[in-house]
Amino acid sequence: MDKDGEDRLIWKDNNSGRFSVKSLCGLLSPKPSTNNAFSFAGFWKGIVPPKVEIFCWMAIINRLNTRCMLVRRGILSSSESNCPICLVEAESVDHILLHCHKHWLIWSKIIKWWGLVWCCPKSFSDMWSQWSSMVHGNFQRKAWLMLFFSVAWSLWLLRNDLIFQQKTPDYDSIFFLIITRLCLWLKAIHSDFPYSPSDLIRSADGLLRWSNAHSFRIKNIWSPPMINRLKWNVDGSSLGKPGPSGIGGVLRNHHGHVLGMFSIPVGILDSNIAELRAIVKAIDLSASNCHLHHQHLIIESDSVNAIRWMNNPLSRHWKHHNLFSYVNRLKAYFVSITFSHIFRESNCMADGLAKQGVRRSSEFVAWL
Ligand SMILES: [Zn+2]
Repeated sequence: MDKDGEDRLIWKDNNSGRFSVKSLCGLLSPKPSTNNAFSFAGFWKGIVPPKVEIFCWMAIINRLNTRCMLVRRGILSSSESNCPICLVEAESVDHILLHCHKHWLIWSKIIKWWGLVWCCPKSFSDMWSQWSSMVHGNFQRKAWLMLFFSVAWSLWLLRNDLIFQQKTPDYDSIFFLIITRLCLWLKAIHSDFPYSPSDLIRSADGLLRWSNAHSFRIKNIWSPPMINRLKWNVDGSSLGKPGPSGIGGVLRNHHGHVLGMFSIPVGILDSNIAELRAIVKAIDLSASNCHLHHQHLIIESDSVNAIRWMNNPLSRHWKHHNLFSYVNRLKAYFVSITFSHIFRESNCMADGLAKQGVRRSSEFVAWL
């Protein structure tokens, strides 16, 4: 009843009392009972093929035709509800896409590849809620959400291949498939995304770095040092985390003339440590060459971490104390050493030497 006593219809799910399509949609949207903070934010973005979006939505609202669902509908008997992968637990959405032991190992591997650690959530919809609130930054967030879709879709296809085509799940290639799908979807949106699936499998660093570098890349090209300065461009390359690694570097003067270079195998290392070793090697070689003493050196690397460690002693890990104290002793040979970050595209000569270094059996060092 209105204040003035007039009787009228009101829509109680809108504050104004008037009907709106939005309030009706809100009313009809599924609200998982377990998590009031549940949100589809970031879901319907069109960043992956529609069939994949729809599949994941069906999974989140628990409408997938898993064996549990088919038993509930009377299509299978209750004795046929077991998971086709582990043959132990009932095949619910939460189990087949998340909790089944081998599948959780895949999620864990992917999450670790991104550089994070995660506890297994209690449901697939909780997984989405946590996942979608994790990573920020325009490109990075897009890639992170795509990764969720890629993992869920790949696991589901794996399960379908087993059930309908009797294909034994190939857990060795699933990681590659997940990253390949991610890479293809990224390239569909960003045609200039430079990395191949193999690049990304080696390390997620390129993907994370590209997202930060994206708006600046065109401006960033290699430039020679000022007169009376010498510039090292260095790089480290690892085939794994850790894996066989190589380091490379090239020294140039203010004309851009090459004065020296190195390409060296450094054994099994993590990529960050290979990057650090490349910097240390450049300083070490410079100290061993008396023509380079009393000079201003600039060292450019495409590793954000290695450059941060060189510039900020507080960010260093105690494990690498020996390397840093060695560098400190070598600094005495030079007037100054400056460390700066350069994007990968501008560091290609050092990158090539580092990649060659991985396959070398002995050190290559040349002074010109
Ligand atoms: Zn299972």
